[in-house]
Amino acid sequence: MFLDIRLLEQKPVRFNEIIAPGAIRFDTDIAQLGDLQAAGNAEYHEAAEEIRVRGEFSVPLQFTCDRCAEPFRTEIIDSFDLIYEPEPEAVAGQEIAIKHSESEIGYYKWPGVELNDILEEQVLLAVPMQRLCRADCKGICPVCGQNRNERDCNCQSSPADERWAALKNFQKVK
Ligand SMILES: [Zn+2]
Ligand SMILES: [Zn+2]
Repeated sequence: MFLDIRLLEQKPVRFNEIIAPGAIRFDTDIAQLGDLQAAGNAEYHEAAEEIRVRGEFSVPLQFTCDRCAEPFRTEIIDSFDLIYEPEPEAVAGQEIAIKHSESEIGYYKWPGVELNDILEEQVLLAVPMQRLCRADCKGICPVCGQNRNERDCNCQSSPADERWAALKNFQKVK
């Protein structure tokens, strides 16, 4: 759905979108398992030439666990309240996207903003930095590669051992 200033000038727009998997392409290591649902409203503030977009969304996603590398499903639910300003004139050699990540302010190009682009960005921002299938995931054994959630392999390994092994390798290289 395109949020067009020429429509927003007349009245605020309410949206209630259901976006099937595939319409938005996330990172290659994220799979959308079901509909992305988003509801909210957009309005145009004429004096400041700003578009304000507020809403909430939920989407079931599949990640790969950082520790055990198994896929797992999680529901991302979040809300947003964003201001879009007119895109500043591009100055040669200057990066204009910097401000974007620092605050909740983005830029639009006349005649407006694409809601799917906003949702893509908001979903990615809501994705946790550490992706674990469960908080106490035991991960993969560094010695034999066994997924330790499934079976305990009884390998003798501690963080101290791994450090010692790294040191031995370092000496060999010298
Ligand atoms: Zn895991
Ligand atoms: Zn093992």
